[in-house]
Amino acid sequence: MPALVAGIHGFKRWIAGTSPAMTGYGYGAVTPPNTHAFSGTTFGHGIAIFIAMIDPFGRHITYLRVSVTDRCDFRCVYCMAEDMTFLPKADVLSLEELDRLCSAFIRKGVRKLRLTGGEPLVRRNVMTLFRSLSRHLQSGALDDLTLTTNGSQLAKYARELVGYGVKRINISCDTLDPRKFETITRWGKLEKVLEGIAAAKDAGLKVKINAVALKGVNEHEFDGMIAWCGREGFDLTLIETMPMGEITGDRMDQYLPLSLVRRRLEESWTLKDVPYRTGGPARYVEVAETGRKIGFITPLTHNFCESCNRVRVTCTGTLYMCLGQNDAADLRAPLRASEADAHLDAAIDEAISRKPKGHDFIIDRDHRGPAVPRHMSVTGG
Ligand code: SAM
Ligand code: SF4
Repeated sequence: MPALVAGIHGFKRWIAGTSPAMTGYGYGAVTPPNTHAFSGTTFGHGIAIFIAMIDPFGRHITYLRVSVTDRCDFRCVYCMAEDMTFLPKADVLSLEELDRLCSAFIRKGVRKLRLTGGEPLVRRNVMTLFRSLSRHLQSGALDDLTLTTNGSQLAKYARELVGYGVKRINISCDTLDPRKFETITRWGKLEKVLEGIAAAKDAGLKVKINAVALKGVNEHEFDGMIAWCGREGFDLTLIETMPMGEITGDRMDQYLPLSLVRRRLEESWTLKDVPYRTGGPARYVEVAETGRKIGFITPLTHNFCESCNRVRVTCTGTLYMCLGQNDAADLRAPLRASEADAHLDAAIDEAISRKPKGHDFIIDRDHRGPAVPRHMSVTGG
C-alpha cells in the first residue's frame, strides 16, 4: 500500500482544510523502504500518513537523545559543580512518561535513540525503560537503541542491555591514571569503570570511549589511550569542553583545542581522514597503526550545525532543539494533559519548526562564563 507523505507544514494545512496539492510542500506516494525518514500514523482503510520531522532548514530529525535523570554518582569537573542541586522528583518524568515521549518521537521518524543523563544507569529501574523501548527495535521502527554512560554500573547491567537489543555503547573515560581519574570525576573510581568497560566488551557490546580533552590534565595521555583502544578494539572520541552551566573554576583553564591535539597525535600516529558521519559534531580519522577510529568533537572550532539531525529532551520533558541555544519547548504539560498523544504531537511539530540554524558557543578571554546556563547533565551529552 503506497503511503501519503507530507512535510509538517503541508500536513498542517491539509488538516486545516487546504489541499496539500495547493501548498507546494513535498508529499506524494512512496513505498517502503523509501519511508526511512518518515513515520507513520495509520488512519482507516490502512492508509498511513507519514509526517517527517523536517526543520525550517530542511534537516530531517532522526536522532533523539533523552536525559533520563539529572543525577549522577560522579561530579566531573567540566560537567558539574561539586555542590549540585538536583531537580525535585515530582518534576522528573516517570519511566512510563519517558517511554511515551520516546515513542512519540519514534512515531515521528526518530530511528536512533540514545539514553543519557546525568548517569542513566543510576536511575532506579531504568532497565524497565530499556525493556519497553526494545519493542521498537523488534518492530523495526527503531534502528538503534543506545546509551552514554560513565561505566560505573556497567558490570551489573551490560548483559541485560544486550538482551534488550543494545548493540553499541559510549563510555566516558578521560584518563587511565587512577589518581587523575579521581581528580577529574571527584567521586569516581577508575577500577570500577574499567570493570564496567570489560563487562561491556565481554557482553558483546561495541564500545566507544568518550574522553574530554582538558588542558594540563589529560592532554599528554592520548597516545596511551589510542594504544589501549587499539588493543581492546574500541573507537575513541575526543571532545572539546563546551561552555555549559556554572562549574567550579574557570573554563578557559580547561579548554584545549583539538586542532592542537590532532597536530601532536600526528607526530606518533598515521591519521587518515575518513568520510564516516553520524550527523553530529564528530569528524573521524582512522589510525593506520591500530585500525580503529578517532572522532574529534569540536563544537568550538568547527561548525557542525549544517548536518544536525538531532534534538534533546531533558528528564523533565523539556525539548532543546539545539544543544547550544536556550530556546526550548515544554513537552511535559502536553504529555500530562491527556492520555492521547495529539497535544504532545502538536507540541513536537511546533518545536521542530523553531529549530535554529546553529549554536553560538564561544570560549575566550571575553566569554569565560557559560554560553548556556544549563549543565550538560541536564540536556544530556
Ligand atoms: N554520565 C554519562 C557520561 O558521563 O558518559 C552520560 C552523561 S554526560 C553529560 C555525556 C558526555 O558529556 C560525557 O562524555 C561527558 O564527558 C560529556 N560532557 C559533560 N559536560 C561536558 C562539557 N561541559 N563539555 C564537553 N563535554 C561534556
Ligand atoms: Fe556525571 Fe557524566 Fe557529568 Fe561526569 S560527565 S558528572 S559522569 S553526568
